[in-house]
Amino acid sequence: MQTKFIFVTGGVLSGLGKGVTAASIGNILKSHGFKIWMQKFDQYLNIDAGTLNPEEHGEVFVLDDGSETDLDLGHYERFIDTSLDKTSSVMSGQIYQAILEKERSGKYLGKTIQMIPHVTDEVKSRIFKAAVDSKCDVLITEIGGTIGDYEGTHFVEAIRQMKHDVGEDNVLYVHVGFLPYLGASQELKGRPMQFSVHDLQAMGIQPDVLICRSDHPVKPSMVKKIALFTGVEEEAVIPLETVNTIYKVPLILEKYHLDQIVSRKLKLKLKNQSNKEWSKFIQKIDTSPKKTIKIGLVGKYMAMKDTYFSVTESLKIAAIWQNVKLELGWIDAEQLEKSSKQEIAKIMKEYDAICVPGGFGSRGIEGKILAIEYARKHKIPFLGLCYGMQLATIEFTRNVANLKSANTTEINPKTPHPVIHIMPDQEKKMLEHNYGGSMRLGAYPCKLNKKSKTYQCYKKESIFERHRHRYEFNNQYREILEQKGLVIAGTSPDNHLVEIIELKNHPFFIATQFHPEFKSRPLSPHPLFVEFVKTALKN
Ligand code: GLN
Repeated sequence: MQTKFIFVTGGVLSGLGKGVTAASIGNILKSHGFKIWMQKFDQYLNIDAGTLNPEEHGEVFVLDDGSETDLDLGHYERFIDTSLDKTSSVMSGQIYQAILEKERSGKYLGKTIQMIPHVTDEVKSRIFKAAVDSKCDVLITEIGGTIGDYEGTHFVEAIRQMKHDVGEDNVLYVHVGFLPYLGASQELKGRPMQFSVHDLQAMGIQPDVLICRSDHPVKPSMVKKIALFTGVEEEAVIPLETVNTIYKVPLILEKYHLDQIVSRKLKLKLKNQSNKEWSKFIQKIDTSPKKTIKIGLVGKYMAMKDTYFSVTESLKIAAIWQNVKLELGWIDAEQLEKSSKQEIAKIMKEYDAICVPGGFGSRGIEGKILAIEYARKHKIPFLGLCYGMQLATIEFTRNVANLKSANTTEINPKTPHPVIHIMPDQEKKMLEHNYGGSMRLGAYPCKLNKKSKTYQCYKKESIFERHRHRYEFNNQYREILEQKGLVIAGTSPDNHLVEIIELKNHPFFIATQFHPEFKSRPLSPHPLFVEFVKTALKN
């Protein structure tokens, strides 16, 4: 079948949920039996999201192949329940790097290198590569940023050319904009949306579908007006009011027959529709839960909660399937550091379970260690993720094995007890593997200890989980810590790397060197999050 291309642009404002909209289109088309692949273009001159500050951009989402990407890729994977790869994340830096490398090696045969065709061709080659490599029926490409951004023009021009290259019937443009509400006159305003479509038209693109995001109900008269001013069919002007959960978006778009519109415009024959599983998940959201659990996330990026996006989504998804109401509480690690034992107890007592997610650097880590100590001693279900696992190891070494100066060499390179450190052979391997980066990135196999609680969660011996870290558990401390009761619940298949630790005689104390949150999806919730929430509920 000829690949169909859907391009999603945004207008008026950023942060409208363009990624969720794109992912929802994928979700709907997948439910019609099509093979979907998704891709995001970002304007930044960075090569990937690995170096972006989480406090500014939110979480770095990691794929199986180790690509460090924008958090929208997390939406894509959760909505289309498919593991993506490096073809799915393209930043301007990659485009220019490729062009400059070709220029230096003489591949352009003396030609003048220009925005058109060289930059646009490089962009289009990424579109075609994603389509060919994934063998998808439909490729959905989201253009980051907002139409009119100076930095995004090469992407817009490239997707304009796509219609010319692959034909009218194979390309669909979806534009997501916003209808602001004026309190004084109590009305929605369509003008900014119209202007952003005009900007798009000035760049040669006539959108086929308009998604009108709004915080208030959109009247049919408004839809009519926007259709008239933009030349988009009335039926294809779809209001999308803010909802209590992003997971409802596919069903709302379906209600407005987006599947039919796409099918008609792209000449895609829809197959039997069965978004049954997804509807079942949504029904769960809508059934009022009987119980509430309160889970505390101990973090340091308190001003930017998107830093922990996949963690909070994994907890929410697990809670939805358990039919419990989840209250997420944020515990500021730095605040804990400054608190007395009594104050810490007062804060921690509020929660049914505690999660310490990943992180880097020294800020707040002693606070996280205090939270872990409390959870261990008071038998509060605890889930540690990456740094959370390393800090749990340090806490155990200091307070149970009594090696008070234990630390990670990330914080104190001279610590007498480096329970978390850099393994020289490991670092060398990573340097060879990751183009000079020394982080362990992407999916690695892990063998579970059959006697562990973790094994009971997964119910299988061999798992693959995604990593993003530099430091590892120091094998020199394995025996001492095991003697003191630490359970090594999972290792690399060669037994060299400790991947999971847990404690006996505790309702749930599991910490992983990897990030299970990157693999938890509405239709395949992660077993560790499910068991964690279940135990919190029992507590
Ligand atoms: N800072 C730790 C390391 O680099 C943990 C990283 C993380 O939590 N993602 O090993």
